[in-house]
Amino acid sequence: EDRVEILGVPFVCATMNEMVEIVHEHVKKEEKCFIVTANPEIVMKANQEKEYMEIIRHADYVTADGIGIVKAAQWLKKPLPERVAGYDMMIRFLELSNQHAYKVYLLGAKEEVLQEAVRRIRKQYPNVDLVGARNGYFQWEDSTIIDEIKEKQPDFIFVALGMGRQEKWIAEHMPHVQKGVFMGVGGSFDVLAG
Ligand code: UDP
Repeated sequence: EDRVEILGVPFVCATMNEMVEIVHEHVKKEEKCFIVTANPEIVMKANQEKEYMEIIRHADYVTADGIGIVKAAQWLKKPLPERVAGYDMMIRFLELSNQHAYKVYLLGAKEEVLQEAVRRIRKQYPNVDLVGARNGYFQWEDSTIIDEIKEKQPDFIFVALGMGRQEKWIAEHMPHVQKGVFMGVGGSFDVLAG
């Protein structure tokens, strides 16, 4: 896939439908994959923190989260086809998982928000195999989360720890697992929980 670089962040030139197809291929092949959905704040943060930029540049796909990025690409005369936002992509992956009974793991948000998100997913996507859910308030060194992911082998791991933290957590822990699509989803569990 083509990439468009905006202030050092390499965005993938793909529509939402194309992203879903690309990621589905990785799932079918049981490959690992790291997706960052980047808004202008993330681009700014990456330009302020070298370590964060490194993490983002090592992601497999960075998508344009919001019209600001799509506009910036337009101004740079390197257009991106459309916005591919985190919440929207998570919903598409839940639909895909519902169709194929894929395994999903949720990490992040406050316990009550997380439990409400779990309830909504069970109700709206009954065929999703929800293999685990952990709230986002844990000790950084806590290895029981990654141990559980290793054991359950989810196809999708949605990580809602807020911008920065979530990408750092994924970059640190993904090397320890065999498969799974890891995506930072920010406040998406809060949105899902209503
Ligand atoms: N969050 C978390 N652990 C933390 C900090 C935040 O699980 O240590 C969760 C928070 O409860 C919320 C989500 O991360 O569900 C997004 O938080 P916020 O909106 O502050 O982050 P943003 O992505 O907007 O920076």
